[in-house]
Amino acid sequence: MARIIAIANQKGGVGKTTTAVNLAASLAASEQKTLIIDCDPQANTTSSLGFSKDPARRTLYQALVLNEPIERIAIDAKIDCLDLIPSDKNLVGAAVELVSMENREYRLKEAISSIREKYSFVLIDCPPSLDLLTLNALAASDSVLVPIQCEYLAIEGVSELLDTLMRIRHTINPSLAIEGILLTMYDDRTTLSKQVAADLRSFFGSQVFESVIPRNVRLAEAPSHGMPVIFYDIHSKGAESYMQLAKEVIANAQKRLGQGIERPNQGADQGTGVAAAASAAGAGGGGSSSGSGPGTGSG
Ligand code: ATP
Ligand code: MG
Repeated sequence: MARIIAIANQKGGVGKTTTAVNLAASLAASEQKTLIIDCDPQANTTSSLGFSKDPARRTLYQALVLNEPIERIAIDAKIDCLDLIPSDKNLVGAAVELVSMENREYRLKEAISSIREKYSFVLIDCPPSLDLLTLNALAASDSVLVPIQCEYLAIEGVSELLDTLMRIRHTINPSLAIEGILLTMYDDRTTLSKQVAADLRSFFGSQVFESVIPRNVRLAEAPSHGMPVIFYDIHSKGAESYMQLAKEVIANAQKRLGQGIERPNQGADQGTGVAAAASAAGAGGGGSSSGSGPGTGSG
């Protein structure tokens, strides 16, 4: 049974897509059968994997709005162990058309339930907003991975985001866990990067992944070649860091499997606000795999 992980942050340009694509490829390279869902009308995940615009290709839109079976939409991402549910700009329409539909927040969850057994991991790349597409992703997920750019005001940003996630636990998905906070575009030559990283770790503790993604030009170049960085330059720091992250995610999943079903959610009854959000984020216990979703890890 797949662990379903939404990669989300309302802030734009923080490395969501880069993380979705490269973590997915690194999981696949570690022989974990992985599905990546492009839930963003910008379709950056789709193009980063080398799929240029093609009006004839089915996308997530058909599944969400027209109820087409997801099996007919998932395609081979041309990488062993990796499948893709593509997006294109029509997905903008889904965000609008879903508004009047029944069960509008749960369309993605329903759509992918039939293929969950096929994968160890499902990663969902979210748009930089809290629209119905993101809500669908969060409703369908066991956990959220939050990429954070190491910059000024990062802590305020994460606190707001965790506050939002708390509200989502209260409403559409009580078992949503925090997979981890991921530091991206880290530059160890700048005091600011170091300071922000230290602050985030002292505030959010083991919620922060040990793996850190450095600012690395190979990561920025790889999408224009239509490939994840491990196929573009396996020896780059960027490739190394995402392989490291994949190891951490797999180890956390295995830990959860060892512990059996995760504990029932302790965060849902707590108040909102930064402190509550931060404590709720820490409530599941156990490193960056903490949180308290019902997921039983990779299957
Ligand atoms: P959006 O909110 O628009 O969906 P995003 O959060 O998905 O953006 P990305 O598209 O992954 O962010 O990254 C934004 C830009 O930064 C891209 O041009 C990407 O190539 C670049 N980038 C991301 N991570 C790194 C990194 N670690 N080093 C260098 N460049 C990076
Ligand atoms: Mg993106």
